[in-house]
Amino acid sequence: MLVVMQEGATERQTEAVIDRLVKMGFTVHRSTGVVHTVLGGVGPVDDFDPAAFEVMEGVKECHRIVSPYKLASRHFKPAGTVIQIGSVQIGGKDVVAMAGPCSVESEEQIEASAEAVSHAGAKVIRGGAFKPRSSPYSFQGMGEAGLKILRAAADRNGLLVISEVMDQVQIPLLLEYADILQVGARNMQNFNLLRELGKTRKPILLKRGIAATIEELLLSAEYILSGGNYEVMLCERGIRTFETSTRNTMDIAAIPVLRRLTHLPVIADPSHGTGKRDYVLPMARAAVAAGADGLLVEVHPDPDHAVSDGAQTLHPKQFAELMKQMQAVATAIGRAA
Ligand code: PEP
Ligand code: MN
Repeated sequence: MLVVMQEGATERQTEAVIDRLVKMGFTVHRSTGVVHTVLGGVGPVDDFDPAAFEVMEGVKECHRIVSPYKLASRHFKPAGTVIQIGSVQIGGKDVVAMAGPCSVESEEQIEASAEAVSHAGAKVIRGGAFKPRSSPYSFQGMGEAGLKILRAAADRNGLLVISEVMDQVQIPLLLEYADILQVGARNMQNFNLLRELGKTRKPILLKRGIAATIEELLLSAEYILSGGNYEVMLCERGIRTFETSTRNTMDIAAIPVLRRLTHLPVIADPSHGTGKRDYVLPMARAAVAAGADGLLVEVHPDPDHAVSDGAQTLHPKQFAELMKQMQAVATAIGRAA
């Protein structure tokens, strides 16, 4: 249930509504907007009459939330979520680029990547230290050593760090070294991991599973939000279809759909979305034009020798061109890059 407080409702009036919701068995999440405070009551309570809340002092309106996800719904935060990390805003006017190699391989590789992507205008360096590989015999990542390398290169180049967390036991390490924790496509429905991330207060980038519907993606986000971590961004990274020309089918339409259904920022990953270097730039343009709040792009100083995902990884020069074009598209739609 959602209770929208009137403009100028007092703290005492808001508290009275919260008390009543809690007494009925709801867990209450509060969203303080510029104009209205919205109270989201979640929990297994079906038997209530919204009209009983509408007569309370300071209440503007009260609705049942019909979607299966509640806190992820745009109704909970109509103005949209803006995630502020240092001086970087995700979900605001700027389209934010996060870029770097698929995997952390060495100090030299990350330093060269950080320099190149920051020079081109990216705000966040990416790189997997724990890698979810289809084969157990493929490179599995450098672990903590890789995270240390990422952190140091990011700090030298004025960047934030995003890196993947594959399992609950890795959370403390990621909290220590990363600014954004990435949940990979394969873990979108790892509910134990999502619940644990809900207890943290670090921004999470949640990737869409390869066979997940948009509603399932939003329900996975709900696991994190319901733990009280409201800093979640969603990532469209392509889904598996019958098409074989691309590694995945990038669902550009998911971007405007998500922007309508949810207040959470939407990031697009044209690298995994296509699997081929040549298609990354056009899909990056399309994603920004469709309303993405940011891009996650694989870039490597020597992509042909990358240990993972080389075929979809850009040369630094190609990334610089992508940033230039992204800026042009962002400007055309009234945003900044
Ligand atoms: C990655 O970002 O390198 C990655 C493994 O992505 P995904 O989970 O989307 O496959
Ligand atoms: Mn990758």
